[in-house]
Parts: sequence; C-alpha cells; structure tokens
Amino acid sequence: MILGNCPYCDGIVTSKKITAQGKTVKLYSCQNAKKEYDESEQYVFTADSTCRFRVYSNAFLRWNKRSFSEYEMKNLLKDGQATIRLHGRKGTGEYFKYVITDEEYGVSVLWDEEVEKEETA
Ligand SMILES: [Zn+2]
Repeated sequence: MILGNCPYCDGIVTSKKITAQGKTVKLYSCQNAKKEYDESEQYVFTADSTCRFRVYSNAFLRWNKRSFSEYEMKNLLKDGQATIRLHGRKGTGEYFKYVITDEEYGVSVLWDEEVEKEETA
C-alpha cells in the first residue's frame, strides 16, 4: 500500500506487514531505504540504499501507543506533522502530542509542544 512520498528523497513510502520477534507489525519505508541481513546476521541498509526513512508501527509502544496506523502515517507524510494519542502507564491519562518525521529515527515526538485541541486521528 502506497502511503505517500518520502520527506527526504521523494521516494515512494509503502506499508507492509512484517513479523518481528513473533509479532506482526507494519513497516512503513521509503523505496530507497532497504535493509537486509549481511553475512554476520546484522540487519543493515543495502548498498544501494540512498535513504534511511523507515518507521515501524510500534514506534511509540513505550508510550503505550500500540500501533501508529497507516492513516496516521499518511497524514504525517502529507502535512509533515501528525497528532498522536499516547497513554500513561496502566492505560490511564491519555494525552496528545505532535509527531514529525526524523531523518535518522523515522519519527520523533515534539515533547515540548502542547497540542491545543484533542484531535483524534
Ligand atoms: Zn527516502
């Protein structure tokens, strides 16, 4: 599924399902950011990769957001920013934050900015 264009190289960003550590997650990646296992079983960018833009749908798991959806990723690519809902521990205290693309890490949360209105994705 095509989600949009890469903010860094204008390549096509697609979504695909992968299995990581026994769990199915979605990987959103730029067509120019490919990874493979090298001879020492390290998961590395391929020699022909010119971009590093890759985001896993569980990127915000540590803030108790189970899945960053295709819809949210589309918005992020379109607007350069998306609003996500995060949760405190034990599922209490949900809050909203802006997320932006990050060339090195794929996505990053703007922790210092308050989201004015609660916008649901
Ligand atoms: Zn790219």
